[in-house]
Amino acid sequence: MAELPDKRTAFMDWYLAVVEASQLTDKRYPVKGMNVWTPYGFRARRQLDAVLVREIEATGSAAVEFPALIPSTEFAKEREHIKGFDAQVYWVTKGGLTDLDIPLVLRPTSETAMYPIFAVWVRSHRDLPLNVYQIVNTFRYETKTTRPFIRVREIHFFEEHTCQANEAHATERVRSNLAAFRRMAEAFALPYLPIRRPEWDKFPGAFYSVALDAPVGEARTLQLGSIHHYRENFSRPYGIRYEAPDGSQQYVHQTTFGLSERLLGAIVAVHGDAKGAVFPSAVAPYQVVVIPIPGSEAGEGPLRTATEATERLHRHGLRAHLDGGDERPGAKYYRWETAGVPLRLEVGRREADSRSLTSVDRLGTKGRVALDRLEHEVAERLAEFDRALRARADAAFAAAFSTATSLAELAGSTTVRIVAWCGSEECGHRIETAIDGALLGTPEEPLPTPLGDPGPCVACGATNGSRWAVAGRPL
Ligand SMILES: [Zn+2]
Repeated sequence: MAELPDKRTAFMDWYLAVVEASQLTDKRYPVKGMNVWTPYGFRARRQLDAVLVREIEATGSAAVEFPALIPSTEFAKEREHIKGFDAQVYWVTKGGLTDLDIPLVLRPTSETAMYPIFAVWVRSHRDLPLNVYQIVNTFRYETKTTRPFIRVREIHFFEEHTCQANEAHATERVRSNLAAFRRMAEAFALPYLPIRRPEWDKFPGAFYSVALDAPVGEARTLQLGSIHHYRENFSRPYGIRYEAPDGSQQYVHQTTFGLSERLLGAIVAVHGDAKGAVFPSAVAPYQVVVIPIPGSEAGEGPLRTATEATERLHRHGLRAHLDGGDERPGAKYYRWETAGVPLRLEVGRREADSRSLTSVDRLGTKGRVALDRLEHEVAERLAEFDRALRARADAAFAAAFSTATSLAELAGSTTVRIVAWCGSEECGHRIETAIDGALLGTPEEPLPTPLGDPGPCVACGATNGSRWAVAGRPL
């Protein structure tokens, strides 16, 4: 069993090795950027989706599903939008042997699939708000190097689309999405920062975009998702109007909220360590692995006790897996640690006789759990583990940012940088050149360490209107 590359000095090699070793995906599919979801990876994805569904439905959103193919005529209605996706869409131009009259776009995202139908659904102010979401595959012809979960061509995509009566209600929906994401990230034990993207980096067609960024070591960041306010930018070309109480016709204001399997990539990237992946219990494919240790005189006791324990955990809704194979216990420990299972229960002769199992969590904390109080004590161990994992991630998050007061300081940054910025695009690009990355934008929520007033812009020295901005190297 080969050792993993060093996470700090060879991050991407480490990431790829962990994804491979933990068997979350199989990258051998013959189309680049389209990964096979393995049984273990699919389990993780299903748990992840369950968190997204739970939290978005708590805010009054309903599931829908729209077709994957969009007529080019609908796709072309919003000019900024099509310009933004032109180089990334897959086309369907033939039906069998016949050229299609109207070529079809394989959805890169679903605005242009949904909005002609929204124009039919929304008639009156009583039809608002319209809050719907879908979890579907979308397709983007990615030209940069693809990475499992982080940059793919077939995306497992969560997208919420809403119609609101006016700009203020749409702003309120953005706030509601930010709060929903806070609760999702809590389940993933992921610290992150919501950042309003600069004008030149917002979603094509958006009024503004807020991205959810997580630092993943050095100056690197990973965008976990994004929330957009569209104002009337889509409702006008698609004719989504309603009759207001005073009888006038008004265009709706729209918002969207997008997430993807990048969350899984972020969980691996943020929580993973020298031993491999580490899953918080809410999304762990298996929360507990039970390993019987048959010694020379152990007889049937350990396997029988391990089986009983696994079944009990199952009955109480815990995702437990019995590894009763004939490998050495040490090899099993190693494999499940690499795969990131939060808690291991070991059952040898001593444990079988005393009806209390040895527990070892993925961060190395050892203990014993009484078989008679098994589900209760396992739930406690998992909660303790989640708290410790969150504390470790929070410490890394706090250390991931530092301020810089000149462009020269940005070169070779080993953390994400906080700089004063006057807001001009020209200075923004100078900051990007200096850090060899991107100006991610301005924080929507307070930074982990409170900052004073921003001084002069690091690029031009202007003090008028300067604000704190975040610069890093997005993966
Ligand atoms: Zn400036």
